[in-house]
Amino acid sequence: MHADGPGPVPADDSPLDAGPAGRPGRRRVLKAIGAGAAAVSFGAVGTGTARADEEQFTDAIVIGAGYAGGTVARELGAKGLTSVVLEARDRIGGRIWTSTWAGEQIELGGQWVSPSHRLVNAELARYRIGIVRDPDPQRVAVARGGRLEHVAPAEAAALLEPLWKEFYKGSEQYFERPAEPLYRKDLLAAVDPLSVADRLRQMNLSPAERDLISGDTAAYCGGSLQNGSLTGMAQWYQLSGGTYDSYSTTIGSRPAGGMTALLQAMLQDSGARVRLNSPVAKVTQSGSRVVVETRDGRRYAARTVVVATPANVWRNITFAPGLPPAHARATAQGIGLPSGTKMVLHVKGEVEAIGGTATEGSPILMMVPQKQLADGRLMVAFPGPQLNVADPVQVQQAVRQWIPGAQVLASRAMEWGKDPFSAGSWGLRRPGQLLGLFPQIEQPHGRILFAGADIAQGWHGAYIEGAVESGKRAAQQALQLLA
Ligand SMILES: Cc1cc2nc3c(=O)[nH]c(=O)nc-3n(C[C@H](O)[C@H](O)[C@H](O)COP(=O)(O)OP(=O)(O)OC[C@H]3O[C@@H](n4cnc5c(N)ncnc54)[C@H](O)[C@@H]3O)c2cc1C
Repeated sequence: MHADGPGPVPADDSPLDAGPAGRPGRRRVLKAIGAGAAAVSFGAVGTGTARADEEQFTDAIVIGAGYAGGTVARELGAKGLTSVVLEARDRIGGRIWTSTWAGEQIELGGQWVSPSHRLVNAELARYRIGIVRDPDPQRVAVARGGRLEHVAPAEAAALLEPLWKEFYKGSEQYFERPAEPLYRKDLLAAVDPLSVADRLRQMNLSPAERDLISGDTAAYCGGSLQNGSLTGMAQWYQLSGGTYDSYSTTIGSRPAGGMTALLQAMLQDSGARVRLNSPVAKVTQSGSRVVVETRDGRRYAARTVVVATPANVWRNITFAPGLPPAHARATAQGIGLPSGTKMVLHVKGEVEAIGGTATEGSPILMMVPQKQLADGRLMVAFPGPQLNVADPVQVQQAVRQWIPGAQVLASRAMEWGKDPFSAGSWGLRRPGQLLGLFPQIEQPHGRILFAGADIAQGWHGAYIEGAVESGKRAAQQALQLLA
């Protein structure tokens, strides 16, 4: 990878010559065409024909340097095709954002991987990246009698497991093959229209039972139980193995070096040129070429374009011709949840490793303990939309519901729903979207292809596994198109 652009760039220690085996390294190709590092001409690179009136021409343009875009670029690079990756922000990663805070590495977006994330684990092995574990909760907070009670992990599991089993009842049938979500389309018609709120209503829970699981579901739905589909959550559950324990593996294990490290390795391997600070404004296809224009007027042309941005922001790009109906619907409805904030807290003193979930409507819906430092413990919190994360008094009060008397030294939050380049948080399909969008949402629009966790078949939305899956599918489509 070589990142360039007018703003700050992530450290780039990438060997530009590290092209995939059997093809010339990027630096040698660029030297061969006399290109400088800052203003690169792609005119003679790739198998496409350069036109004098276009600034840059390449085999493929990838829009977005998240996991989906990184996968596409790496897969195409491995087949000897050239691509340029246009990234709107001043960093790679998208809804993955490894940062440093309180002297520690933190994740402001996606954080955990699971053994059931087959593709991601294969990538981690390929780039020799290990796994590190968060501390296990010593005590689990469960909502009982209008407050949060701390119980032993085994007691929490005994309370919660039967409720989750009931919540997901039948999903082993309607997701008989969870990686092929439409396999039992016949059974899905009855369940896909249901929201998580509908499913909780169907269960006829006692108020005490509802309190135990409503906060967890609300956390996954970004605060509003109407937003998430039952089938969205049930598919994740079945993909993990279909048990309370198997689904628990989706939280707690992280790639060593942070979530961005794997993406960095993939982009480095791709040989692609990554242009940061390059928000795309317009994508126009005519004949055998597609022209992409950035907001500052730069133009790039290629034989194919892969749109690897969140589905929620497709609506901010002008497509000519316009988006097909399923894509237009997806971006209008949204797949990334409108609110879905992540907060890292630094809580003073020796603090017990408390994890768990509160009730729906609580200012903090879910808490995951992190490292104990010399002066306090780091905690990850998923607040509901009613918490003003910028108000330290509110944050302090919210944390005290979890840990009485706790003193918050500092907090850092990322409100993904307010970010212009995601316009939403992690993805969770809305009620009806599985049958309403698939399989059309994965299909090419002429020479324009789509990738992204939001539109993955398997671990969609809330998992980088889905981004990698969809990136691999889009790369295959690009290879067929360019053959
Ligand atoms: C708070 C939070 C917690 C999460 N927790 C986990 C977790 O624990 N484990 C896990 O696996 N996943 C988790 N996820 C989900 C995971 O982060 C996403 O599924 C995944 O990163 C999406 O990858 P993507 O490439 O599809 O999209 P993105 O990561 O959103 O990448 C898309 C890229 O497109 C760029 N872009 C947007 N518009 C334009 C434009 N006009 N021009 C050019 N570029 C543009 C964006 O800047 C971005 O870099 C979490 C997400 C969030 C927000």
